[in-house]
Amino acid sequence: MRTRFWGVRGSIAAPGPETARYGGNTPCVETRTDDGTLLIFDCGTGARKLGIALARRGPVRAHLFISHTHADHIQGLPFFLPAFVPGSHLTVYGPAGIDRSFPSALGGQMDYSYFPVAMDQLAAKVEVVELAEGEFTIGSIRVRTQFLNHTAPTLAYRVTSGGASLVYSTDHESHEGATWRPGRAEGTYDDADLLHPGDQRHAAFMRDADVVIHDAQYHAPDYPAKAGWGHSTIEYAVDIARAGNVRRLVLFHHDPSRDDAGIDALVRAARIRAGALDVTAAAEGDELVIEEAADDTAAPVEGPRTPTLQTRARVLVADDDGTIRQVLKTVLSGDGYEVIEAADGAEALALAQAGAFDLILLDVQMPNLDGLSAARQLRADAKFADVPIVMLTGRTADKDIEAAFAEGVTDYITKPFAVAQLRARVRSWLSRSAERA
Ligand SMILES: [Zn+2]
Ligand SMILES: [Zn+2]
Repeated sequence: MRTRFWGVRGSIAAPGPETARYGGNTPCVETRTDDGTLLIFDCGTGARKLGIALARRGPVRAHLFISHTHADHIQGLPFFLPAFVPGSHLTVYGPAGIDRSFPSALGGQMDYSYFPVAMDQLAAKVEVVELAEGEFTIGSIRVRTQFLNHTAPTLAYRVTSGGASLVYSTDHESHEGATWRPGRAEGTYDDADLLHPGDQRHAAFMRDADVVIHDAQYHAPDYPAKAGWGHSTIEYAVDIARAGNVRRLVLFHHDPSRDDAGIDALVRAARIRAGALDVTAAAEGDELVIEEAADDTAAPVEGPRTPTLQTRARVLVADDDGTIRQVLKTVLSGDGYEVIEAADGAEALALAQAGAFDLILLDVQMPNLDGLSAARQLRADAKFADVPIVMLTGRTADKDIEAAFAEGVTDYITKPFAVAQLRARVRSWLSRSAERA
């Protein structure tokens, strides 16, 4: 399995002498498995040069895995030459958006106002496949997807071919609270010690991978000003990779304002905490090879299945602060959900028992009955065993987070929250329960 980086920069292209070594193009990564299958991760501005290189050899068959439809990850598609070559066949995979489908979000950047050629006028055969979390195979290659914690529905991809595994995981932020539980033994990297189950799930997704390409836009000192923007620090990326027993971590999605010397400094800082984990920073033109074992082929998994979502999910919002309820109601009903409000825990419990809900958002500190007690009572009732219960609270202490998960809550989001991230988290949980149904 051979991987080459064509674009490594996050957010916006940043060409210039100060970024010449690592490169200024936005995300695009090419992977060729030993059986010749061409996989492309994201289609940022780096896709232009990749397209030129590919089209030299005639029509192209490629599978493009789009993490999400933020511009930096798709803006190269209208300039990806194989899309204009008759006989080319592109399958483009990506997550369903919230306010529009993946095909319409992807094709929207080629609307007449933005680009002269519409998506459906491309000479190549272009299939667009919407994904949720799941697993499927392309020939003998196994592909797994998992939602990330970003400001839009975003997928990480794990591909395995001949026993070699590569994870592409960008535009992701650590979950709430510290990375590690209070009291964890210094210098140990047991994934069970990760404080937030969202981070445990993230580490499990990359478990034992040969290579993980990971968002590493920030350094810890940058982070307080950037919390809620949906990106990782190098410290978090290293810790998660160690918890997942990854062999090699490639720092990716470099900040547009970070120059080459700044990225060198990040790599040095990351290596100090990396132990036996091999850490590098992705640079345009870099190649990396993972050995495949020819006899290790994946059993076929049918799919990908078209994602399903309840046509009108019902969401219960309990908060004693009317302003917060109003914000949540406006935002979540705008996303197509039916939102029912409760002003305290007792009212939430009564409403939940009287009706059917697809997701319950609970504040912790509320009159009559607090959110944690409400969650405990809901979980004790078989009717609510599988309903996602998401705490949304001003209690930010690590011990509070730990205590809430011990009560069986599904997720824990702290106030002040980033609205865009909350929308994506709610959508991930609704999507997961729809897939289970
Ligand atoms: Zn991005
Ligand atoms: Zn993004």
